[in-house]
Amino acid sequence: MTVSVMLFTSDLRVHDHPALAAAVREADQVVPLFVLDPGIARAGFDAPNRRAFLADCLASLDTGLRERGGRLVVRTGDPVEQVRRVVTETGARSVHVAAGVSAYARRREDRLRTGLEAVRCALRVHDGVVTALPPGAVTPAGRDHFAVFTPYFRRWAATGTRAVLAAPRTVRVPELAGVPLPGRRAVTGVSPALPRGGEHDGRARLGAWLSRDADSYEDQHDDLSGDRTSRLSPHLHFGTLSAAELVQRAGRRGGAGAEAFIRQLAWRDFHHQVLAARPDAAHADYRPRGDHWRDDTQEIAAWKEGRTGCPIVDAGMRQLLHEGWMHNRARLLTASYLTKTLYADWRVGARHFLELLVDGDLANNQLNWQWVAGTGTDTRPNRVLSPLAQAKRFDPRGDYVRRWVPELAGLSGPEIHRPESLAPERRAALDYPDPLIDPAEGRARFARARGLD
Ligand code: FAD
Repeated sequence: MTVSVMLFTSDLRVHDHPALAAAVREADQVVPLFVLDPGIARAGFDAPNRRAFLADCLASLDTGLRERGGRLVVRTGDPVEQVRRVVTETGARSVHVAAGVSAYARRREDRLRTGLEAVRCALRVHDGVVTALPPGAVTPAGRDHFAVFTPYFRRWAATGTRAVLAAPRTVRVPELAGVPLPGRRAVTGVSPALPRGGEHDGRARLGAWLSRDADSYEDQHDDLSGDRTSRLSPHLHFGTLSAAELVQRAGRRGGAGAEAFIRQLAWRDFHHQVLAARPDAAHADYRPRGDHWRDDTQEIAAWKEGRTGCPIVDAGMRQLLHEGWMHNRARLLTASYLTKTLYADWRVGARHFLELLVDGDLANNQLNWQWVAGTGTDTRPNRVLSPLAQAKRFDPRGDYVRRWVPELAGLSGPEIHRPESLAPERRAALDYPDPLIDPAEGRARFARARGLD
C-alpha cells in the first residue's frame, strides 16, 4: 500500500488541482493535510478576516474530500515538522505541494526538501496551481521576469494556460489523527459583512457572475456603486478557485467583458512573477525614488478610520472596515490619496490593507501599492489621481459615498463629493470632518518631494 501526502496551502480546492491529482494518481492512499501554522501570525500575516474565511474554506474542502470518500487531516504547528510526522506515521513516499512565490513559501519549500530527504521521502513542488501561468513561464530576453505589464500580457496571452483537470473521483485516506477543523465563529474582530469562504461558494459565485455580469464587465468594472466586479479575489487568494480554470471558462464565454476580465487575471499573474523574482519587493521599493515619506500619525489614523474629509476616500476606507474587501477603483484612489496626497509611506497603507482585506495577498497587495506609489512597475510613477475627478467619473450620482458615509446621505450628486463647499450653515449641520488637506496643496507637496517642480 503506497501513501502520498498532499500539503494544502493556498490551494484549498479539489477541482483543477494538479498537485492533488498527482498525489492521488501516484499512490493508493493520500493524506490531504492542512497545517495551521503559528508562523503565519509571527510573520505578521494573520488577520481575523482571513482566519474566518480560511475556516470556511477548510470546512468546504473537507466536505469536497468526504464526497470522494476522503477527509481533510488538520494539524497544528510548524508545517515541516508536522509533514515529517505524517510521513513517519504513514510511511508516505512523496509529499506534494503547490509552488509559492513569497519568501515565506520559498523557505518552507526549502525546509521541506531538507526535512524530507532525511526520511527518504520525495518532495514534489507543482507549478500552475496558484496562478494561471507559473512565474517564469514567460520571460523577456536576458531577464528573469517582466517589469512592465503590457509586454508581459502579450506573451501571457499568446502562451495559453494548461488543460483544466477534473476533481479526483475518489480519495482514499489512511487512518490518522488530526485536530478538529477551526470554526469561523471562534474568530473575533471579523468585519460585519465578511463574505463566506469555501470552494462550494466560490464555484457558485463564479457561475452566477459569468452568466449575469461578465458581459458587461468591460463597461461596468469601474462603476463604484454598481459593484459589478466578480468579487472572486478571496477565492483566488485561498485557491478555492483555480486561476487557470477561470481563464478558460471566461475565454469560452468570449466577448469584450470576458476578455477584460482575463486581462485582470493576467495582472494577478504579473504581480506574482514580479514577487517570485524579487521577494524583497514585499517590503523594499521595487524602483526607489528617493522618497522621504511623511509620518503624520493623525493623518494616517484619519485615513484608516475613513475620516479624511474627502468623501470618496472615506467611503472606500469604510467599505474596507465593514466588508474586509474594497472595490478596485476605491483601492486605487485611497492608496493614491495616502501616498501622493498625504505623502505617507506605501508600506503603512499596505500593512493596514493586509490587516483587513479578506483577499489580502502579498503579491497583489504590495505590488499594487508600489504601483500606485510610483515605486513599482507603473511606467508613469508620478501620476496623481485627483479624488474629485475620480469621484465625479466613477461615482457621478454619489451613490457609493451615500452608502458608506451616511452623514452625507442627504446631499445631492455634485455636492456630496465636496461638502466643504456648502454654505456655512449647511456645512455646520453635517457631522463630517473638514478636509485634512487641499488636494492641490498635496499635489504640490508631492511634486516638490519628487523633484518635479
Ligand atoms: P475583478 O475585477 O473581478 O477581477 C478578477 C480578478 O483579477 C480579481 O479577483 C483578482 O484576482 C485579479 N485582479 C483584478 N485587478 C487586479 C490588480 N490590479 N492586480 C492584481 N490582480 C488583479 N488584489 C488581491 O487579490 N489582494 C490584495 O491584497 C490586493 N490589494 C490591492 C491593493 C491596492 C492598493 C490596489 C490598488 C489593488 C489591490 N488588489 C488586490 C487588486 C484588486 O483591487 C483586487 O484584486 C480586486 O479589487 C478584487 O475584486 P474582484 O475579485 O471583484 O476583481
